Amino acid sequence: MSERPPELPEPFKIKMVQKIRLHPREKRKELAEKSGYNVFMLKAEDVFIDLLTDSGTSAMSDHQWAGMIDTNQAYAGSQSFYSLENAMKDIFGFKHFVPVHQGRAAENILFSTIVFPGSYVPNNMHFDTTEANILRNEGTPVNLAIEDAYDTSKVSAFKGNMDTKKLDQFIREKTPSKIPLIMVTVTNNSAGGQPVSMQNVKEISAIAKKHNIAFFIDACRFAENCYFVKQREEGYKGKSIKEIARELFSYADGCTFSAKKEALTNIGGMLCTNNDELFEKLKNLTIVVEGFTTYGGLACRELEAMAIGLYEAIDEEYQAYRHRQIEYLASLLRAGGVPIVEPPGGHAVFVDAKEFLPHIPAEQFPAQALTVQLYIESGVRGVEIGSSCFGKTDEKGRLIPARMELVRLAIPRRAYTDNHLKYVAECLIRLYRKRNQIVGLKRVYAPRLLGHFTARFEPVA
Ligand SMILES: *Cc1c(COP(=O)(O)O)cnc(C)c1O
Repeated sequence: MSERPPELPEPFKIKMVQKIRLHPREKRKELAEKSGYNVFMLKAEDVFIDLLTDSGTSAMSDHQWAGMIDTNQAYAGSQSFYSLENAMKDIFGFKHFVPVHQGRAAENILFSTIVFPGSYVPNNMHFDTTEANILRNEGTPVNLAIEDAYDTSKVSAFKGNMDTKKLDQFIREKTPSKIPLIMVTVTNNSAGGQPVSMQNVKEISAIAKKHNIAFFIDACRFAENCYFVKQREEGYKGKSIKEIARELFSYADGCTFSAKKEALTNIGGMLCTNNDELFEKLKNLTIVVEGFTTYGGLACRELEAMAIGLYEAIDEEYQAYRHRQIEYLASLLRAGGVPIVEPPGGHAVFVDAKEFLPHIPAEQFPAQALTVQLYIESGVRGVEIGSSCFGKTDEKGRLIPARMELVRLAIPRRAYTDNHLKYVAECLIRLYRKRNQIVGLKRVYAPRLLGHFTARFEPVA
């Protein structure tokens, strides 16, 4: 038998640590109740392992911290703006960009400029903030993911893809004049962080060109997506992540980007485009709502951290470690019988709450119930991606449930060790064994847009 080389461990060592605390179970129960059974309302210090999000939670590198101190702070023309511009042009390859304080600011600026009342914006699947920013501009967000995206147990390479037949049909039906832009989200966060293939992006781009519609990428996790392309798509094995990224972005007219994900920073974002005329408008609105175009709502040190972090995100060893760690958590849960979205995505493992809690109907928010119970059980905070987040209400105020009920265990980048994830898996498996004891929730309060952040619940009697 030929011997396999050992799997590589984390390609970094720990230089600074932060103490975390696990409250006793009784206290966690009390805190869950006080939070209105909504983990967004918990204090971070009351959380033991925080898998709420991979957004803004990366551990930054010594190089990023050093760069932040080394830069100069200027209202106009800071050196860090040019560092970031160079990194953006080198990795993304767009002609123009503005930094913004986070991804949704890019969405707000873009959609306020080109989305109009009665218009439609197709995407493989909109993230909650893109959806809300389109609705705020009286457009309609439309999800055209392939059917496989909704099948949590089907294993296939690119479950994040858009259904391009449906897209073409949709455009013909609504007419191109009603569609200010087409988007694709890489990786598809709302469907489990599943990757989109290069082939699919190429096809979407061709359809957009044919109908003369702008095509933007929601690029939050572009590097994780490019690593999947390298691993899974014919013809990319020998290419670097940067080469793959350049090709990906070459098919688009622009992108929105949250640096809180794959620039490995705690805040920041970018809005990029090749379109001169459009950029003129975006630039002017940025100055009104974010700040001057060489800082975009950020301190210049944040721009520097983004510029350095972008290169760390496309580092092959880093991506290999990142994907291996997520697969590690997935493999432990799988072995313990916990139903998860297969294959696991690039930034998180998603637990299928519909299968985990078949006795709780969608009207009682099974994914929310599981999220809260996991906190009570273990001090671990995940997040609901189900009917609280994506459900709608009909004209009588009744819930129209989301298609999927998921609990996302997002893995902050470079922040937790495999041992932390082992604890998470053990607690979740223990919970699975006594899943019959978990009860559903009744929603007692929710605002209209992005209601899941502040919703309140009560256990069903
Ligand atoms: C996080 C995210 C956004 C929004 O970015 P923020 O920085 O949180 O405002 C948009 N799209 C996707 C896919 C995301 O994951």
